[in-house]
Amino acid sequence: MNSLFEKIRDLELEDPETGRFFCEMRRSRRCRHLRLSVYPDGRVVLTLPLHESEKKALAFLEEHRKWIQKKRLVFRSRSHAGSAEGENGEFFPGKTSSCLFYPSEMMLPWISSSPLKVEYQWKDCCWTGICVSSDRKTIEVSGNILDYECVENAFKLFLKRNAEAILGARIQSLAQQLGPEFYFQKLTVRLQKSRWGSCSPARRNISLNGTLIFFPQELMDCVMLHELCHLKVRNHSSRFYQLLESVCPHCHEKNIRLSQ
Ligand SMILES: [Zn+2]
Repeated sequence: MNSLFEKIRDLELEDPETGRFFCEMRRSRRCRHLRLSVYPDGRVVLTLPLHESEKKALAFLEEHRKWIQKKRLVFRSRSHAGSAEGENGEFFPGKTSSCLFYPSEMMLPWISSSPLKVEYQWKDCCWTGICVSSDRKTIEVSGNILDYECVENAFKLFLKRNAEAILGARIQSLAQQLGPEFYFQKLTVRLQKSRWGSCSPARRNISLNGTLIFFPQELMDCVMLHELCHLKVRNHSSRFYQLLESVCPHCHEKNIRLSQ
């Protein structure tokens, strides 16, 4: 196997709605688990790790037939209805499962108040790049789009870069408004699941969760102000909450909204 992928064969499948269609079965050097992908154009790809048996792969495909039908139907209804509302929640679909649903649209609230279309373009290379079109209506994903990990990493990098720019500029301006006591040394942005932010007052470093850019400005500010206040008061004492309330009224209620 010289390239990253090797096609094994096309499998013919039956869909009660759309009739016959093909699923491409391929082997990948980089793939570590069996993987099933459904693309917005209706294509289905079953990817096997280098040493996985075809028998197991076919059983996996059989198990997920209903899932494939559902996803293809979603894409089909969307292409019929133009920019109909979609299930945007399925972004990063394969975090733990091996069934992938490449989103055909995504909400990027810092770019537009309506969903952006996602277009995928395959190129014979080992990387994937993501950019937003100049009219800010389309997210262009191009490169090795058949490798899910590659696409996932590209999305993560894209979000991290956006978050670094947006959160970096905002926290800098908040710190300046608050005064010299709130000066910080360094901001780190991570795409985490659990924590919204943290602060190390000794080093004057702040860390923020990059996914905050999907939240309204006031909630974003609330997390940033919380961490900035830790530069003055390390713990969660009543003195801390007094300080926080003075710079961010109703911060506690907003925190509750964030934790929901
Ligand atoms: Zn805290």
